Amino acid sequence: MPIDATLAYDDSNIFAKILRDEIPAQRVYEDDFALAFHDINPQAPTHILVIPKGRYVSWDDFAASASADEIAGFVRAVGTVARDNGLVAPGYRLLANIGTDGHQEVPHLHVHLFGGRPLGPMLSRV
Ligand code: AMP
Repeated sequence: MPIDATLAYDDSNIFAKILRDEIPAQRVYEDDFALAFHDINPQAPTHILVIPKGRYVSWDDFAASASADEIAGFVRAVGTVARDNGLVAPGYRLLANIGTDGHQEVPHLHVHLFGGRPLGPMLSRV
């Protein structure tokens, strides 16, 4: 079910549990600002999620409230993960779902990195 991205941060969300190492994830990268791990239900040959370490519900929350260091650190981490996973030369897609219409399911900001095949048009036509 999509979530309301205007709600307060909920520490019981699944990505908060991954950050606290309470549940496992296939981690591929970690630094002071970000953690990256493989999506449990991949939609492309490479499907990695990158999340900030801070308590941000969505891109909106992050853009409004994160510090300059957190924003720079997160953006650089996304770039590093794409580069380290060989996605830059063939190309890839970055996606962040926000709120109900964006079909965001997990209420902790995450960026999807898709790659490993031609990804087709940007949105389905449904
Ligand atoms: P979104 O719709 O943008 O909120 O996407 C949430 C994503 O999180 C989906 O692609 C799920 O497959 C993925 N996901 C949910 N639980 C886990 C988990 N425990 N480990 C890795 N990925 C997960």
